[in-house]
Amino acid sequence: MPFSIIRDDITRLTTDAIVNAANSSLLGGGGVDGAIHRAAGSRLLEECRTLGGCKTGEAKATLGYDLKCRYVIHTVGPVWNGGTHGEPELLYSCYKNSLALALEKGCESIAFPLISSGVYGYPKDKALDVATRAISGFLADNDMDVYLVIFDKAAFRISSGLFDSISEYIDDAYAEKHDDTASRMMFGNAAAMQGAASAPVSSAKPSAVFGLFKRREKAAKPRGKESAPALYADEVCEDAPCEEVLLESYLASQDESFTQSLLRLIDRSGMTDAQCYRKANIDRKLFSKIRSDVNYRPKKQTVLAFAIALELDLPQTLSLLSKAGYTLSDSLKFDLIIKYFIQNKNYDIFVINQALFAFDQTLIGC
Ligand code: ADP
Repeated sequence: MPFSIIRDDITRLTTDAIVNAANSSLLGGGGVDGAIHRAAGSRLLEECRTLGGCKTGEAKATLGYDLKCRYVIHTVGPVWNGGTHGEPELLYSCYKNSLALALEKGCESIAFPLISSGVYGYPKDKALDVATRAISGFLADNDMDVYLVIFDKAAFRISSGLFDSISEYIDDAYAEKHDDTASRMMFGNAAAMQGAASAPVSSAKPSAVFGLFKRREKAAKPRGKESAPALYADEVCEDAPCEEVLLESYLASQDESFTQSLLRLIDRSGMTDAQCYRKANIDRKLFSKIRSDVNYRPKKQTVLAFAIALELDLPQTLSLLSKAGYTLSDSLKFDLIIKYFIQNKNYDIFVINQALFAFDQTLIGC
């Protein structure tokens, strides 16, 4: 995955490079610095002695010695001093310079700790924002697998406003589902209890899926027989005339595989393939695989990553999911978090992944 947040000890990772949150002497210290030096062995300190220290915001590379990585990139984060002393810019530079150095060394993967968020006192939610901005900025133009390693889950904080708002959304959906289930029980519909929402869409009748589009009253005119299928379910427009036209287009779009739908949607979005897979946090190799296999069966997380990159609304997202046999359920926290972001038109996949991580869910992308 191009950008992933994981929970681990950075010294155990096998990425090409790991980043050390060092101090300016580069001669070792506590926290992650101490752990890296212990795991790498004394030859790391010997090489560090030859480097002449490092300024805040800059980065220098050494070999990895006894670690599993090829390189350790040492960077010096800013000490938090209220946030008005250039801390965000300096912290951003740590990530930017470390990534540039990794690229120069030919690395294809790199892992970062949450720099400055320990002894240097940078507030964790703010440190995470800077890390996310710097890494996603780099990945918009470069291919590399970048891991942000969270050592201790308690050290991971998304902004409390976002966290509370998602929690409330999840609670409301659970409560609504509970009410709905209770009323169906009262009317004796036991089948309703069996989690219909989590059933794969492929087992649903077309009319059930079609129902997603039913409320729209008008649709754009079909583009003409020769360019059939004229109108796709995920292209339903404001002036849709009637259900028959929608049903016809729904049935026509059923002939499309996931790959075909995806490529059509990318064309329609005006993005290049590379812009789209990068925005989707999908690596180039996986995208090539999808592109070259008309019947590719993606993971749900992959479909959702593309839906987010393409900024699809909820019906369009469900339509794309259905191509791969998936849907979204109000019984699943993961699905609700995705719905929350789509309904709020927040299509920043990196923020979505922060939220998924905070709620212990699988991240989206490959
Ligand atoms: P700084 O001085 O830059 O604040 P610290 O080492 O004190 O550096 O902490 C930076 C971050 O690294 C903290 O979030 C801390 O929890 C984390 N950390 C500490 N040990 C490890 C480790 N072995 N692997 C990954 N992260 C670690």
